[in-house]
Amino acid sequence: MSNRYYIDERSGCIAVRDRERTDPDYSGLHADTEGVVEYWDGRRTEKKCSECGHVQFAGWEVSEADRAAAAELCDRLNLKPDDQARAPS
Ligand SMILES: [Zn+2]
Repeated sequence: MSNRYYIDERSGCIAVRDRERTDPDYSGLHADTEGVVEYWDGRRTEKKCSECGHVQFAGWEVSEADRAAAAELCDRLNLKPDDQARAPS
């Protein structure tokens, strides 16, 4: 059986999600998406144009720190006994 909580990283953002609350019919990933426990946006990256030196957008990038935080949270949630994970805080 697979773990209840899992990491969903794609195109410049990352989230820890709850398999039991994830809507299989919705493929998007945003901070308010069903089943998202915690969400991190990547940072905007830029690069200099090799032709003229103008600065251009080069995509979104998840930082190593955010990736590590997501992994840590995911592990911690999966290790929790079910009754603790479900208890209201
Ligand atoms: Zn240019």
